[in-house]
Amino acid sequence: MVQSPRVEINLEKIKHNAKMLKTIYGKKGIEITGVVKGVAADCKIAKALVESGVASLADSKITNLEKLKKADLNATLLLLRTPLMSEIENVVQYADISMNTEIDVIRALSAEAVRQGKRHKMIIMVEMGDLREGVLLKDAPDFIREVLNYSGVEIVGIGTNFACFAGAVPTEQKMNQFSRFVQRIKEQFSLNLPYVSGGNSANYNWLIKTKNRGAVNHIRLGESIFLGRETTEGDAIPSLHLDAFHFIAEVIESKMKPSVPAGNVGRNAFGELVSFKECGNRRRAILGAGRQDVLVSGLTPDLPFEVLGSSSDHIIVDTKSTVLKPGDEVRFSMNYGALLSAMTSPYVHKTYIQSTAKTRKNDVYKKHFLISKPVQNVQSKKAF
Ligand SMILES: *Cc1c(COP(=O)(O)O)cnc(C)c1O
Repeated sequence: MVQSPRVEINLEKIKHNAKMLKTIYGKKGIEITGVVKGVAADCKIAKALVESGVASLADSKITNLEKLKKADLNATLLLLRTPLMSEIENVVQYADISMNTEIDVIRALSAEAVRQGKRHKMIIMVEMGDLREGVLLKDAPDFIREVLNYSGVEIVGIGTNFACFAGAVPTEQKMNQFSRFVQRIKEQFSLNLPYVSGGNSANYNWLIKTKNRGAVNHIRLGESIFLGRETTEGDAIPSLHLDAFHFIAEVIESKMKPSVPAGNVGRNAFGELVSFKECGNRRRAILGAGRQDVLVSGLTPDLPFEVLGSSSDHIIVDTKSTVLKPGDEVRFSMNYGALLSAMTSPYVHKTYIQSTAKTRKNDVYKKHFLISKPVQNVQSKKAF
């Protein structure tokens, strides 16, 4: 039985996107790593990426890398975030490469690598203006000189990140500055850097426009593989699927109700003051999913419904002229926030569609926005 709420995951569409991006970036001499934190390092998705030719996978949580390591996927595993001091042992054990910005952490990694008889590889992250992680450029030479003194660790790359915290855009000028910096470091320390990691899905526009990728030979991609978009403007990338993921919730109540609340109105369960527009009696459906399941603001209904709001376990929808009944299902497309929240919620079931993108498009996504019967061809996995 197909259960709800659920995320329907089209593995073929994900594979198509991964292959296309690998080719687009590959033509300019740039390798891609698949970032799986947005899908809670789901093993079937990770496997689909590896089958598409993506040779390395990255996540910010070491528990997810442990899971991937144990799944034996034949991919290099990157820890995307600087390690927690409390997880050093697992980082050396499960991450092939970690990203680093703190000397104390690197010293701990060095000691632990020596203890485990390993050589731990790392990418040093530098700050290019997004003001999240990264060593300042002016401090980087001394930092790198010090790291080179430690045994058990090896610098295999220099990386930077854009558009995650401050929204700093990887312009041509910024990317050139990064490349010149990396070039100087390579020469100064005679480093061979297999990972000059220039950014994430926000780098797409730079990539397609630039005539010179400079020193950059690596990019880390999550959102553009999964949702087919670059992330500075949210624009669709030509020929990629935007609908590899759908969120599906089930109707639990459907009635005509007034459009404004009765009596005095205060703050709701989340401390928010909600405003209402008087538009008479409306057809309202309540769906059996809520903020414990998904970031509701990141959902867009496939049908012209209006999401009126949500609480922990309810989503309230104005269904306009469509009459729904309990048991009907409503299908939504998802943005990155919705994807991340639904994939990490233990209450949301994950189902996988294996069929080809073409058949599915005409078959389900266009016609049956509401599906009362379970879709054929999905494998259900209980999420608990
Ligand atoms: C999340 C993350 C990425 C992937 O970003 P997308 O926008 O999903 O491509 C890349 N690098 C780092 C350091 C990240 O934290």
